[in-house]
Amino acid sequence: MSSTHFSNLELPKALLDNLETLGYHDMTPVQEQSLPIVLEGKDLIAQAKTGSGKTAAFSLGILSHLEVKRFRVQALVLCPTRELADQVAIEIRRLGRQVHNIKVLTLCGGTPVGPQIGSLEHGAHIIVGTPGRIEDHLKKGRLNLEELKLLVLDEADRMLEMGFQDALDTVVEHSPSQRQTLLFSATFPKQIETIANSIMKQAQRIQVEATH
Ligand code: ADP
Ligand code: MG
Repeated sequence: MSSTHFSNLELPKALLDNLETLGYHDMTPVQEQSLPIVLEGKDLIAQAKTGSGKTAAFSLGILSHLEVKRFRVQALVLCPTRELADQVAIEIRRLGRQVHNIKVLTLCGGTPVGPQIGSLEHGAHIIVGTPGRIEDHLKKGRLNLEELKLLVLDEADRMLEMGFQDALDTVVEHSPSQRQTLLFSATFPKQIETIANSIMKQAQRIQVEATH
């Protein structure tokens, strides 16, 4: 078995079996570099191009740290667009299929607020959404992040380009300071550096070069 096989990681057996079923045998380079850091609970800044497998890198971290019996929001993934948030939610559900009764809720702009309020009342373990709508729910007191363990900023460069800086600040203000934060970005402009330094503690950094 190759050294990049997922079974080299400290992952629950149910997750490993499911990865096998999904045809995920070997880790991609970004997964190989980031997952040991993610599973240790450390903060991470990861730079890697699109299509490199970043979603599974943070999703496996979320799923392995989740306490399923505690029905509270324990992980929040912020994405720049609704399409990306939907894809991330699908991937988390796929990877977590063997882990019983995980509730993943998507909260994105451009969709009616009413049904989201209803869904929030029912609760969730994991929320995936766009920063503006998450900010809205936080400010109106509909979303409680007091038990958040893991905050993920996916495609951070795009979120900043879209003007989500204030919304990101609001999310961080509502999150416990004792948490793990993971930041993924394809590029690394100065603004990302500034944000990363302000919201993360002694983050590990990885950079995966484009292969073509
Ligand atoms: P990124 O977020 O870096 O752009 P994705 O997480 O969307 O990339 O992954 C790209 C594709 O690769 C997805 O279709 C995903 O299912 C697949 N994939 C990710 N990791 C693996 C793996 N270890 N083995 C096989 N396929 C994988
Ligand atoms: Mg992605």
